[in-house]
Amino acid sequence: MSAAAGVEESVRRNLENVRARIARACAQAGRPPESVRLLAVSKTFPAEMVRAAHAAGQRAFGENYVQEGVAKVAALRERLGDDALEWHFIGPLQSNKTREVAEHFDWVHGVGRLKIAERLSAQRPGGRAPLQLCIQVNISGEASKSGIAAEQVPALARAVAALPRVRLRGLMAIPEPVADTEAQRFPHRRLKALLDRLNADGLKLDTLSIGMSDDLEAAILEGSTLVRVGTAIFGSRKPTP
Ligand SMILES: *Cc1c(COP(=O)(O)O)cnc(C)c1O
Repeated sequence: MSAAAGVEESVRRNLENVRARIARACAQAGRPPESVRLLAVSKTFPAEMVRAAHAAGQRAFGENYVQEGVAKVAALRERLGDDALEWHFIGPLQSNKTREVAEHFDWVHGVGRLKIAERLSAQRPGGRAPLQLCIQVNISGEASKSGIAAEQVPALARAVAALPRVRLRGLMAIPEPVADTEAQRFPHRRLKALLDRLNADGLKLDTLSIGMSDDLEAAILEGSTLVRVGTAIFGSRKPTP
């Protein structure tokens, strides 16, 4: 087997494993398997591996770095056509980079400030569907992590929901890693409770973006509707310099 065929085969096998994990967790939670979307996090991996995942039936991809992400989006649009893939920006976003993200991506998960959402709305090209947004919540309460405190979410959510060229879809979090599945469920449960409260207050949010390679089962048991999985699909990443 050539190296390229080997990569394609391992991505296909890993995707099958992840889909099976999702299906098992959904069964355990008494939820239909299609209630959880799989986002394949392709940061640091070449466009070729995204193409291999697409060939194995994967459609939605997540990127963390603006320059790398925009280059990959452009390369794959050229190769596969404009609407073959759905692109999610899941990394930290500074205001001087919002235009590129508004022009190239379909979703942004890491919104933590109104100013960023306002810029994305103003810069979203008129011919495209509204940009789909999630507010990032600092659910583990560490000062160093990005995302906003849970108490500040309702006001930000109302303000973002009123912007014209974006659509607020839900909440996202990156909980502090813990090994124990039971302990993993606490931050997920808090995020779900916050989403339910926003909906009870009149917002119409359908997305809970939680769960990664190591905690997707715990996230699904607590109501995740979108898991963001990198390592379990593409392998381990080289440490970023
Ligand atoms: C890298 C990353 C992921 C994927 O993490 P894995 O542990 O590799 O599955 C998910 N979400 C965010 C925000 C990330 O930055």
